[in-house]
Amino acid sequence: NLKIGVVGLPNVGKSTFFNAITSSSVAAENYPFCTIDPSESRVAVPDERFDWLVSQYKPGSRVPAHLTVIDIAGLVKGASTGAGLGNAFLSNISAVDGIFHVVRAFTDPDVVHVEGEVDPARDLEIIHNELRLKDIAMLNKFIEANQRNIERMGSGGTVEDKKKKDEFNIVVKVRDWVESGKDVRKGTWSNKEVEVINQQFLLSAKPVTYLANVSERDYLRKKNKFLPLIKKWIDENNPGDKLIPFSAAYETTIAAIEDPAEKAKYAEEQGVPSMFGKIILTGYDQLNLMHFFTAGEKEVRAWTCRKGAKMTEAARNIHNEIADSLIQVDVMKFDELKVAGGEQELKASGKLYIRGKDATIDDGDVVYFRSGQ
Ligand code: GDP
Repeated sequence: NLKIGVVGLPNVGKSTFFNAITSSSVAAENYPFCTIDPSESRVAVPDERFDWLVSQYKPGSRVPAHLTVIDIAGLVKGASTGAGLGNAFLSNISAVDGIFHVVRAFTDPDVVHVEGEVDPARDLEIIHNELRLKDIAMLNKFIEANQRNIERMGSGGTVEDKKKKDEFNIVVKVRDWVESGKDVRKGTWSNKEVEVINQQFLLSAKPVTYLANVSERDYLRKKNKFLPLIKKWIDENNPGDKLIPFSAAYETTIAAIEDPAEKAKYAEEQGVPSMFGKIILTGYDQLNLMHFFTAGEKEVRAWTCRKGAKMTEAARNIHNEIADSLIQVDVMKFDELKVAGGEQELKASGKLYIRGKDATIDDGDVVYFRSGQ
């Protein structure tokens, strides 16, 4: 179950965003929705291919892919040293797979900014720093706990000692990198280093999508004076990370319209769509994930797996036993299926492929796993 945490300074619109995304997902899905916790919600990942398969198979049950979004409150300047219960909130971040970093790009004299003036670059810097400071503290804790032992080993030692020394040196290297002002995810690391990094649950290792909360007016006229500054900050500090402008206020209005047709009509009249689909898909993509499908009269279902996964790994999402006794896989390519107009037509044209269990599964594959079960 994948989790993305919503992170940002107070009063930037995190809760507004979270509430809107939660209620719009409830309205859009007739799939049993569960709120795990007031600050945690399961959001359906929009996918037109899934919608097409549902319209095609008219299944008894439909299960889209889901992403859990978590509202992480309470991050302020000094959080890494305990300000505002900061440490507790920072630990919440270590449990997520990715981050939506909400940054304030609207001015409103009625909504106080904790740091005074609206200044997104300063805000980005504050959060970026707190996450890195927390990482440095965690890495230093490891270094302090192991330093004496490593020194005692000297240059000799057993295979086990050598492994410990390697690990220690990697942690020091990562600490120096973060101390130099960079996020862990922006480093180029060897497989061995990645293994060590993964064990440390570092906050700045998590993929980030930046969400700039602009006023409804700016969103509708597609113009905002803060956006170039945010873009510049990202390009300078975390090049490659995605920036999506949205308006929490506008999304709240759209989310409140329950009827999907009315909702679409309203957005069309305003001339701009909701950004939620794009936000969720971008978050998903940052996690290096993709979808494959199973489809039949009983159920159409979207499954999540890592890009580049083998058939066996994909099957494990469904059931260990299927994966363990997997023999072969019937594969339909979504685009070909859609062009053919249906499963029967596709099969008639000879485009049902039989793949071995070690073949790679592709995004959009509609599969049937044949196992010994
Ligand atoms: P959080 O502390 O980051 O969770 O921020 P909230 O979502 O609670 O928002 C703080 C205040 O800002 C609330 O009064 C919101 O109504 C207001 N707010 C959120 N987004 C916008 C926006 O796009 N425009 C304006 N004018 N106010 C907003």
